[in-house]
Amino acid sequence: MTSARKSPIWHPFTQHALHGEMTRIVRGEGAYLYTADDRRIIDAIASWWVVTHGHCHPHIVRAIQDQAEQLNQIIFAGHTHDPAEQVAAQLVKLAPPGLDYVFFSDSGSTSVEVALKMALGYWHNIGATRTQIIVMENSYHGDTVGTMSVGARGVFNKAYEPLLFDVASIPFPAPGYEQTTLDALEAACRKESAAAFIVEPLILGAGGMLMYPAWVLKEMKRICEASNVLFIADEVMTGWGRTGTLFACEQAEVSPDIACYSKGLTGGSLPLAVTLCRAEIYDAHYSSDRSRTFFHSSSYTANPVACAAARANLELWQHGAGERVASVAAMQERLIAPFRIDARFENVRRTGTITALDLKASDAGYLAGIGPKLQAFFQRRNLLLRPLGNTIYVMPPYCVTEADLVEIYDGIRCAADALA
Ligand code: PMP
Repeated sequence: MTSARKSPIWHPFTQHALHGEMTRIVRGEGAYLYTADDRRIIDAIASWWVVTHGHCHPHIVRAIQDQAEQLNQIIFAGHTHDPAEQVAAQLVKLAPPGLDYVFFSDSGSTSVEVALKMALGYWHNIGATRTQIIVMENSYHGDTVGTMSVGARGVFNKAYEPLLFDVASIPFPAPGYEQTTLDALEAACRKESAAAFIVEPLILGAGGMLMYPAWVLKEMKRICEASNVLFIADEVMTGWGRTGTLFACEQAEVSPDIACYSKGLTGGSLPLAVTLCRAEIYDAHYSSDRSRTFFHSSSYTANPVACAAARANLELWQHGAGERVASVAAMQERLIAPFRIDARFENVRRTGTITALDLKASDAGYLAGIGPKLQAFFQRRNLLLRPLGNTIYVMPPYCVTEADLVEIYDGIRCAADALA
């Protein structure tokens, strides 16, 4: 098959041979996106889960403008600046206790790569031979080689399989099978080579919006601690209020050894990520011996404009964002209730501001089948929803109104009418 496309752009996670014209967006405001042909689209997934306070939030836009006029880039090795210092200090206060050091990077994937390197660097620098990473099946941590290695294996990474490193895998704690998961974790942690366990707390996102209870997360942390295995919380999706609290780990009173935050860190305005760690991990890299340096950087590490956007985001959290989260969670609970008794759906679920439901379909495939049909249906209704196969989920910006949510759930109901 040869291509004859007008645009030279290669889009992410897109099969161009099957995809029609891209929707051209010219403007965003609050929960809405506006197309070149003047359609208003409700952004029901906060543009890949990042736009927490809504598009072009004036407070964040102003912070970006001001910083761009002051200092817009500086090599971060050997230099520092106020926006980064202030964001780091604030994050240490807000994150679970014990996460005392902050490493900046620029995407969720890089924050996870950094976490894995920190964990391996820690064991290496203290002279231990622990290299095995323990993961949970169905997880998603990014698309770089390292993050693919710790994520679900399948059609998405078949071509790269020879490059992916071996991991120990434990099953997802499905209802009734929590103890099986915990036993598997305990067994994996007992291996001498066990270095770290990485997990998406409370909900596996891209792996199907699969939710599990806080007590399981708490037990997982206890098990890791008992075997001295580092606990890495990938809060790239769950951070910034998504599960109802600022960070998901709070609900299980879990203090990870390493935590990754991105997506909503800048309120979805600019790319930025952080990896926080405990002092022991930092200290293992703190030495008069230069070979123990944490050898990781990127050109834009802690970009001042992105950090200013993150600082503005943190200010919004001090001024009412938490209340918006509670209100969106309550509206979502009300609106999803009728789906619990609609026979065309199953596994209707919610954590915080995220809802998910599975449309019963004979072809639940992600790459073919109901998934792309649902997406096209929602597109025609001016709803930005991107189902994972037959799993439809709603993860809106916190400025979404009840009327917007009603429109979103009406759209989902109509999709079932048309396609189930
Ligand atoms: N970890 C999790 C849990 C995620 O959901 C994602 C993105 N969906 C990532 C990591 C990767 O983040 P990014 O796309 O910003 O690289």
